[in-house]
Amino acid sequence: LDVPENPIVPIIHGDGIGKDVGPAAQKVLEAAANATGRDVSWMRVYAGESGREKYDENLPDDTVNAIDEHRVAIKGPLTTPVGAGFRSLNVALRQTLDFYANVRPTYYLDGVPSPMKAPEEMDMVTFRENTEDVYAGIEWEEGTEEVEQVREFIEEDMGFDETMHDGPIGIGIKPITEKGSKRLVRKAIDYAIEHDRDKVTLVHKGNIMKFTEGQFSEWGMEVADEEYPDDEVFAAPDSLWEEQDEIDVPEGAVMVEERLADAMLQWMQLRTDEFSVLAMPNLNGDYLSDAAGAQIGGLGIAPGANFGDARVLAEPVHGSAPKRAGQNMANPTAMILSGRLMFDYMGWKDAADLVRDAVEETISSGTVTYDLARQREDAEKVGTDEYAEAIVD
Ligand code: NAD
Repeated sequence: LDVPENPIVPIIHGDGIGKDVGPAAQKVLEAAANATGRDVSWMRVYAGESGREKYDENLPDDTVNAIDEHRVAIKGPLTTPVGAGFRSLNVALRQTLDFYANVRPTYYLDGVPSPMKAPEEMDMVTFRENTEDVYAGIEWEEGTEEVEQVREFIEEDMGFDETMHDGPIGIGIKPITEKGSKRLVRKAIDYAIEHDRDKVTLVHKGNIMKFTEGQFSEWGMEVADEEYPDDEVFAAPDSLWEEQDEIDVPEGAVMVEERLADAMLQWMQLRTDEFSVLAMPNLNGDYLSDAAGAQIGGLGIAPGANFGDARVLAEPVHGSAPKRAGQNMANPTAMILSGRLMFDYMGWKDAADLVRDAVEETISSGTVTYDLARQREDAEKVGTDEYAEAIVD
């Protein structure tokens, strides 16, 4: 992404523990930028609780416009108040600005306790479609005209036994589009090429949901097959049924393969080193990226970012953890490493590497926040601020 020498970066500290981890992350990111000869001009913007305080709105226009204009932004977690008029502030923000890919790297940091036998083999990046699937929120409850129509359709036209549907039903729609699938897979492939990764795995349940998840995979394979030369990207549409070593991939090409989502949760843990970049519809991505994150340290560590076309909004995976809010306890690593992803997207590779190395060095030296200290006897437990200072040092 082409960014100015001294970019303006809108930042939302966030609700709950966002008030702790937001400023801590800002400090570390700024130090990494300065240490690599750059400057960031932060622009504090508001949403959630702070949006309501300053603007009487959850998602003020000023915030959306700032992120839209500057194209590079970072946010902490937001709590969606009950009865806000939309399902989630986060989803609203991603959809308003068309951040269609939610990207989560999952890699092992030395010194982080893990339940895995070989956690150091974990180095995956998941690309989760962000705007479609059951998250589109198209659903109806019992008693609505829509449910009545669907009930009639199921009973009369599809000929199902009435007893299957004689109680209340909830109905949801799962839209998956060609455009949405293709742009997501394209982003994942481009990321793999740019970061020298050798494989993109499409994760779906197309064996059951043929016209949604199955199509996702077919459209994804079309991108791989038609939009790139074979020696750069090699589509392996039969990979579900073939042994890996029987697939003849041209030297140096990124292989695009497919896996069924349920099996993938197993492979991810049993054959961790076989996977690199994963691309999938929204719901699969939700489950799979959380499960992957849990293997290498959990929510306090797990970073993320939303990619759109030439724009990025970095945000940690975790929520506002109200129980820990304002206590200088929460782990800012997830937000710091989200900022690292943002730097990477901006092309600031040296600053991104510096952030990762400094975080890893701090954790492996035994200076950690309460969540990791609980799992490590040799560790020194420090607060959010002290931890951030140790990283800067
Ligand atoms: P959560 O991620 O806020 O917290 C779950 C638990 O994980 C916490 O109790 C805490 O023990 C631990 N945890 C999370 N982040 C941590 C950190 N940085 N350091 C140490 N421990 C950490 O999930 P939740 O309790 O389900 O949700 C709380 C609120 O956050 C809800 O209102 C939810 O809507 C919102 N939420 C927002 C986002 C987002 O902004 N992207 C994401 C998820 C949840």
